[in-house]
Amino acid sequence: MSEQQKSVIIIGAGMSGLGTAAYSQMNGYQCTVFELHETPGGCCTSWQRKEYTFDWCISWLNGTGTNNEMATIWDELGCLENVPIYNTEIFNSVVTANGEKIRFYVDPDKLESTLIERFPEDSKLIIELCGHIRKLRKCMPYFPFLKSGGLMTWWEKSKMMWQLLPYMRTFMKTLAVTMEDFSKRFSNPTLAEALNWIIFDRHSELRLMPFVFNLACAANQNAGVPSIGSLGLAKRLANRAKELGANIHYKSKVEHILTDNNRAVGVQLADGSVHYADYVVASCDSYKLTRKMLQNRYPHPVLDKLFTKLEEDANSVVFPGCVAVFIAVDADYSDHDPYTSYLLPESISRQLVGNYHSGIGVQIRNTLYPDHAPSGKSVLYVTYLSSSEAWQAMEQSVVQSTSSGQSRNPYTRKRRSPEYKQAKKKVGQAIIEFLNQYFEGLTDKVEFIDVVTPLTSERYTENHNGTVLAWHPFAPLTEELENYQIKHGPTFPNLDNFYYTGQWSTFSGVTHSTASGRYVAQYLCRQDKKPFRVCCPEQQNTKQHITNEADNYA
Ligand SMILES: Cc1cc2nc3c(=O)[nH]c(=O)nc-3n(C[C@H](O)[C@H](O)[C@H](O)COP(=O)(O)OP(=O)(O)OC[C@H]3O[C@@H](n4cnc5c(N)ncnc54)[C@H](O)[C@@H]3O)c2cc1C
Repeated sequence: MSEQQKSVIIIGAGMSGLGTAAYSQMNGYQCTVFELHETPGGCCTSWQRKEYTFDWCISWLNGTGTNNEMATIWDELGCLENVPIYNTEIFNSVVTANGEKIRFYVDPDKLESTLIERFPEDSKLIIELCGHIRKLRKCMPYFPFLKSGGLMTWWEKSKMMWQLLPYMRTFMKTLAVTMEDFSKRFSNPTLAEALNWIIFDRHSELRLMPFVFNLACAANQNAGVPSIGSLGLAKRLANRAKELGANIHYKSKVEHILTDNNRAVGVQLADGSVHYADYVVASCDSYKLTRKMLQNRYPHPVLDKLFTKLEEDANSVVFPGCVAVFIAVDADYSDHDPYTSYLLPESISRQLVGNYHSGIGVQIRNTLYPDHAPSGKSVLYVTYLSSSEAWQAMEQSVVQSTSSGQSRNPYTRKRRSPEYKQAKKKVGQAIIEFLNQYFEGLTDKVEFIDVVTPLTSERYTENHNGTVLAWHPFAPLTEELENYQIKHGPTFPNLDNFYYTGQWSTFSGVTHSTASGRYVAQYLCRQDKKPFRVCCPEQQNTKQHITNEADNYA
């Protein structure tokens, strides 16, 4: 490290921590990343079970297209170079409890014509919905993604507003209404309910905006699936950060942030070792960051309000976790729609521990990731949003394993109660029993299953209650946090040389979290009064798009 070069310690090798490392290295900082798990990626991960790969994360990745700032992030980081991208013609299908199926096509023209043909009584609202999607498709190149609002100059903000002006009406209309309220205006009850399930689970409390935004991204082939999978993407980013000079240490849990005179100066790891740097960046759960790592010594005007609510009722501010059941099957289900939400009868729904809604999302994972199952076999990926508390109740006596075997990671090993293990098994069985009517011979052809709960998620990522998306998007306090950060940056008022990043600081999602690392590098440069720069990989970016056509499905 040269005398001039400043050092940065980053807590967490999720996509935001790795993004921070890559962009900070590009700007002359020497980064050291500490990650408690033994692989990079955090939530963006997958794992191997026999000849199958179980991919936990990416169902779509924003920025797989071209000519928009989300795509620029991946181009700059070189993560999607020469990677085949899979797109689908169907965003999701919804099958009601009495077996009626509605397909939500990616192409707004096809979506509009198929829905109007079937539900002519709702033509006006269908046209309105598809109109929003078309409008957002057009404004994709102007969505700001490369700089946080807090770093934009007056001129940049004015330019952005000018470019977005023609789309403001759509923004306002889709941000003003939740999907629940929008869907209530439809007269056909089946369509009204199905709309709430477009994003796999029932997201009635979400604004209309994220629905139309993601449909617009998909229509622009900007929400595809990279064939390298979630862990493959994370590994590419980790390699890029390392090529740029970052050091990444796995099985290294940060216990405390060291401060001196209200300035972050380093970290203490769980093994007792201490490490010093000019800056510390936390890319992990902000509740544990504040309460444990900073030991409540640094108040934050908005985070403290969020934490008070979180302690009263976590669900009021934190997005829930989910249960994921991976089913390895010796059968080829590639003729099924790749994504389908099934609404459940009460008899099945009540068997799903912790569920909020009577439905499950089912993906034929190997349609999107052909390498994830051997030829002629399938991986079904079944998910439902679940409370963490329902699982915690079975785990009153969760014990940190004392095993000290060399290959074991003391920070992620847990001994689970027999009751918890039994409950996971029963959830898997109930789902297989239900799906048997839609997937011929399923019960007999299951090879094995793997059930992931919100507790599994918390165990491997330390995210509160195993949340899927950190703070509730668009909730009033989340917006207050966003506004605070625009004014003051992702910082604590009385702690210098410290930043936080990732899904707890911004919107979540793989691309957003990765982009938040870029923002922190920009803040570092601003603090050190130097221009921010990017050095792109030399190779030309060539993405190969493959579309799974709807005609392929039964
Ligand atoms: C089931 C599921 C499906 C999803 N599907 C999609 C999708 O289809 N598309 C999409 O865009 N997004 C999806 N997301 C969201 C996306 O994965 C996340 O928003 C994003 O990956 C978050 O990245 P992050 O770096 O901010 O946080 P994390 O991924 O949580 O990374 C934080 C890292 O910090 C580490 N850490 C925590 N505490 C410590 C400590 N004390 N010391 C050292 N290390 C520590 C953790 O181990 C972890 O690796 C999904 C999420 C889940 C859970």
